Amino acid sequence: MTVFGGIEAGGSKWKCAVGTGPDELRAVSTIATATPAETIGEAVAFFDREGPVDAIGIGSFGPVDLARGVITTTPKPGWAHTDVSGEMGRRLGVPVAFDTDVNAAALGEHRWGALQGLDVCCYVTVGTGIGGGILVGGTPVHGLQHPEVGHLRIPHDRDEDPFPGVCPFHGDCWEGLASGPAMEARWGRPADEVADDAPWALEARYLALGVLALMAVVSPQRIVVGGGVLNRRGLLELVQRQLDQLVSGYVAVPELVPPALGARAGVLGALALAESAS
Ligand code: ZN
Repeated sequence: MTVFGGIEAGGSKWKCAVGTGPDELRAVSTIATATPAETIGEAVAFFDREGPVDAIGIGSFGPVDLARGVITTTPKPGWAHTDVSGEMGRRLGVPVAFDTDVNAAALGEHRWGALQGLDVCCYVTVGTGIGGGILVGGTPVHGLQHPEVGHLRIPHDRDEDPFPGVCPFHGDCWEGLASGPAMEARWGRPADEVADDAPWALEARYLALGVLALMAVVSPQRIVVGGGVLNRRGLLELVQRQLDQLVSGYVAVPELVPPALGARAGVLGALALAESAS
């Protein structure tokens, strides 16, 4: 029987799994992201211990060079130009499929979760950053590099919200205005400690404006919206209402749904990705 290894390679932690899907997960482990040598070493040790596996799928933080399987210009110390897929493949002696973390999560939801059976669909996560994976015909969109949904520019009324944004590259892009760190910097406390409604009404509008841009270009049939910021009760419904208002009846509005695979969408998607490498 064929068994796959999956890695959701995040900037703060790596989730590794061995199995074939959500109902057949043999082992799961979380590794803190340290130096590339330490983190890759721990991941190799996990698959040596829990394997053997026939192929590995990696959904990685980025930006990445998808053709070469390399993390490229990340500001994360020590990680720029790390050949994650080459190193894993050489040390484990198996084929490796490599994609962005959000494309992998979209694949996971498409295979087993809330995006099953859809032709054009998206997965958006709003947490320490904002990212989005896009599938067309069930295949992740790549392109010149890969979509960078979190860096869409959205309308920003500086009279109403003078906050300059937290993106080190663009200031007030979507991620700069509406990620978890943006919430924390604007309101002076972590997003999950912001209790009153007004900050969340602004957050819902920013999220709806970004989703509006995404839907205007991609026309997805459904969008999964996950990530830690969406733990706020009622936020997704608020975003859906704002989106309906922004579209103003002009075209059909895609349904926004939470990830059916929860926090495991990424690592399960990496397993789905591994299948394409075997
Ligand atoms: Zn940006």
